[in-house]
Amino acid sequence: MTTKRDYYDVLGVEKAASESELKNAFRRLARKYHPDRSTEDDAEDRFKEIQEAYAVLSDQKKRAQYDRFGHDGGQGNPFGGFGGGFNINLEDLFGGDIFSSMFGGGGGGGGRRRQSGSDILIRHSIELSDVLNGTDQEVVIDLPHACESCEGTGAEGGRLTTCASCNGQGQVRVRQQIGPFVQEAVQACRECNARGKVADNPCDGCGGSGQDMKSSTLRFKVPLGAEQGTRLRMRGKGEPAPQGVGSPGDLFIELEIEPHPFFERSGSDLIMSLPLGYPDLALGTTITIEHIDGDDLQIKVPSQSNSGETVEVRKRGLPRQRGNGRGDVVVLLKLHMPKKIGRSTKKSLETLRGDLGPKDVKSSILTDAQERRRG
Ligand SMILES: [Zn+2]
Ligand SMILES: [Zn+2]
Repeated sequence: MTTKRDYYDVLGVEKAASESELKNAFRRLARKYHPDRSTEDDAEDRFKEIQEAYAVLSDQKKRAQYDRFGHDGGQGNPFGGFGGGFNINLEDLFGGDIFSSMFGGGGGGGGRRRQSGSDILIRHSIELSDVLNGTDQEVVIDLPHACESCEGTGAEGGRLTTCASCNGQGQVRVRQQIGPFVQEAVQACRECNARGKVADNPCDGCGGSGQDMKSSTLRFKVPLGAEQGTRLRMRGKGEPAPQGVGSPGDLFIELEIEPHPFFERSGSDLIMSLPLGYPDLALGTTITIEHIDGDDLQIKVPSQSNSGETVEVRKRGLPRQRGNGRGDVVVLLKLHMPKKIGRSTKKSLETLRGDLGPKDVKSSILTDAQERRRG
């Protein structure tokens, strides 16, 4: 398993940082390292690290747990840690569309802005094996396109005329009486939806919206080692620009990875637990299971293994992002206790009680405590 940097160091804040300090640090770093914009080599890894650190520290319960136990989350149990996908709602943090508010795209408020279509987000489910193999995906979905008969203008024959209400400005001045004061304010023109132009007659084909829905086939490849919530961007595949002016929005495909029946994920490592009987733990064994990479996975359990220990099958995990190779499969050994023990088994166990238990319970309590404290 990889060693992780301290979450506070990752965000560059003090241990006592307030919620708003955390948020500010996260926003600043997220802007710097967002993989869609950043030119840094390790942007993607850094961005994930930042997301993970923020996900934990912004959650009071998780932060307290982290402060006490570190990355492990307590109990030294691979399932109790903070590993796995972190999906922070960037829209919440940045208010609305993450890309426009994060990076200043989409124009400022106030004056007339360059019009462009909205972004579209679709969610697409994949399996863990797709993350391993980087499979090709095909999604058939109805998407808005610019109406052909009016070229997206929404006007019959594409004929638009200057809006009379706002003189083509897209905004109007209104006077408001507030108590004794008359205040003048600028508002978006309602007649033309702030576009400055109106259709004499709406297009028959699209009813004036300028768009129609068409079945579209999207093809893309799952990025190797993709994390839960990864968003793929298809430029210009979003909503067409209103009235056909400006550029269409982008389409984002958010990957949802379906939970595997028994693997959990920690970055590029796959984690599973393996319950075994006492003889298998004591004498050692090799367990072979079918793996998601199509080959058999051989788990070699050494003799005298203890419940709670882990064994690793190297390089059979998921592909590491940016870099070669794969993570590991980490197997947590557990002692399987049968629900019922038959009479003859009980008899044989009785004969083993002396051999397999500690010779002297009192001294074994002491030895165990000493070993535990030595860490
Ligand atoms: Zn107008
Ligand atoms: Zn039309």
